[in-house]
Amino acid sequence: MAIICPKCASANIEGASYCQACQAPLKPASPLKPLAAFAYLLGFVSAAILLNLEPYNQDPALKFHARQSIAFSVGWLGLNIVLLVFIAFTPAFLSDLLEYARGIANLALAVVWVYLMYQALTGTQYRLPLLADWADSLGA
Ligand SMILES: [Zn+2]
Repeated sequence: MAIICPKCASANIEGASYCQACQAPLKPASPLKPLAAFAYLLGFVSAAILLNLEPYNQDPALKFHARQSIAFSVGWLGLNIVLLVFIAFTPAFLSDLLEYARGIANLALAVVWVYLMYQALTGTQYRLPLLADWADSLGA
């Protein structure tokens, strides 16, 4: 049985939470937005929980946020590992500079992280440049 979108009247597959044509929510008062924000809260940990939890792993929007959260947190962690390795093997004057740069990068990424949670909470599928495409490739 198809679900008719209240906004644009196009037919959607059964169980769909968002209209495939206009992205309007098909179920009123859905708990999915806080869950989408939760996907970012603990990085890949909370994202992995959502991707393995029925019925939430059936929701395309939630899956998008979970995958983007994984891409973002893995990228964040990877950046820190690379920088820390660099810092460990560079002379003191340079490592101080790198440590400073790492602090700024982490601060900027924390702002992006909060922004992603806010976007998820408002129901916006904000796509991070580059990372979102990588997130899509994480699994169909
Ligand atoms: Zn629609």
